[in-house]
Amino acid sequence: MLFLRSFIILFLSCLTIKLNLCFPSIIPSSSLKALPVDGHFKFEQLDHAARDFGNRYSFLPLAVLHPKSVSDIAITVKHIWQMGPSSQLTVAARGHGHSLQGQAQAHRGVVINMESLQGPKMQLHTGNSPYVDVSGGELWINILRETLKHGFSPKSWTDYLHLTVGGTLSNAGISGQAFRHGPQISNVHQLEVVTGTGEVVNCSEKQNSDLFYSVLGGLGQFGIITRARISLEKAPQMVKWIRVLYTDFATFARDQEKLISGESTFDYIEGFVIINRTGLLNNWRSSFNPQDPVQASQFKSDGKTLFCLELAKYFNPNPEEMAAVNQEIKDSLSQLNHIPSTLFLSEAPYLDFLDRVHVSEIKLRSKGLWEVPHPWLNLLIPRSKIHMFAQQVFGNILTDTSNGPILIYPVNKSKWDNRTSVVIPEEEVFYLVAFLSSAVPSSTGNDGLDHILVQNKRILDYCEIAGLGVKQYLPHYSTQGEWQSHFGPHWEVFAQRKSTYDPLALLAPGQRIFQKPI
Ligand code: FAD
Repeated sequence: MLFLRSFIILFLSCLTIKLNLCFPSIIPSSSLKALPVDGHFKFEQLDHAARDFGNRYSFLPLAVLHPKSVSDIAITVKHIWQMGPSSQLTVAARGHGHSLQGQAQAHRGVVINMESLQGPKMQLHTGNSPYVDVSGGELWINILRETLKHGFSPKSWTDYLHLTVGGTLSNAGISGQAFRHGPQISNVHQLEVVTGTGEVVNCSEKQNSDLFYSVLGGLGQFGIITRARISLEKAPQMVKWIRVLYTDFATFARDQEKLISGESTFDYIEGFVIINRTGLLNNWRSSFNPQDPVQASQFKSDGKTLFCLELAKYFNPNPEEMAAVNQEIKDSLSQLNHIPSTLFLSEAPYLDFLDRVHVSEIKLRSKGLWEVPHPWLNLLIPRSKIHMFAQQVFGNILTDTSNGPILIYPVNKSKWDNRTSVVIPEEEVFYLVAFLSSAVPSSTGNDGLDHILVQNKRILDYCEIAGLGVKQYLPHYSTQGEWQSHFGPHWEVFAQRKSTYDPLALLAPGQRIFQKPI
């Protein structure tokens, strides 16, 4: 009798494995349907989950989970973990799908639509160190709106706010405030995470700290962020928004570095490059209103390469504070070496300033220019190599910026926590250089995808050959060897953390770092 039972179990197991191998979608989908989740699975019309902002990679999942609770996510991941390697199923958390190369997709796996997650309402705590508890699928724009109601705001941002907490914390989250506050991953107190075995774990600097730092900048490899505690500060009402131009890179970079060192007057420091600039695409980040003198069309560079320093100073519009702020700005600007006639200054409400790229999004969407391929390239470049890089790339490898903006600004390494998973250059100051290109679909010219990809490759090849010690931000590689060299001495820790928190390599398969063993 016992023998017969063992035989039946063995037979059924073999049949399951065989069916899984021959018809990978049959068994998993029926078993997913049977899971006791509060939300629901979708098995049809899943095109949305196979798309992202990059518009270049498309992998259809088997199913999309719209979770209502953290337990929906935990149950699903645990179930897939318990199925073992034979099921081939993987799991991708999808934030707002603003990845560039399929990083939030899961080929024939399960995509978890994080925006459906309904945790407890956003909870704001004031006091000496104010913070807000938010869902991992929350958009930053919603956090801003909610915290502003109480006079507070997160400190560190991305340039665009229609991204999710889990998505940006899996990368770093960098913008013009990073020189002062560090990236977004330096401004998180605590996380709730579902690991690759389906465990729900709270973590922070004090509690399960290895998981906490693994997940921050961890490219989604170690767990799904379901809640985060974000550090806040008092929010200003208004922003002075300033741009000045330079013709000389060395002068521009010297001023930028001066501004990020010590007690800076400004709350936000960025910059961008203008080379033979024309057209709408290259202006898409310059969302000043048309009446404003800073309107980017006036920046036409007539064949020259120009460097634009962009600054912001927060303030509240009461007479005393305004007088002091105006004086401070005047003093600071008088120490810069920009072209004197190119000082553009406007004022904007704090929310409008932070949400500025959304204005451009609406404009580009209306012209069908938002959902085009985006072959972006983001690099972190050590300060000591930035001049070589600029000389070789601006005006040489790149002869115009008509395909999209190029951002360039320095940040301070001391504001980054070296316990997180993100990889950055070794020097105390390094630059973010972001080539934010849009390609015209099916064009074979200079505005086409192939041309831009060739240019990107030339830039990367140059960095490699010249040994600049550059790291990719929002990195993308095809082989594990390339990933190993990206992580360098940090690879072993990264791989060790993977085997601890996601031993079957279920999570974020779209990053193509690890493969689920079969
Ligand atoms: P997704 O693209 O959905 O996911 C990104 C990765 O994180 C995937 O691997 C996914 O599986 C994983 N993931 C998603 N949610 C979770 C979660 N809850 N837990 C664990 N893993 C998760 N970045 C900057 O740093 N600074 C900028 O100024 C900036 N500006 C941008 C402007 C635009 C217009 C766009 C499109 C992107 C910009 N980004 C910027 C990049 C952005 O931070 C990343 O692309 C980010 O991944 C997008 O967030 P998302 O919420 O759409 O994540």
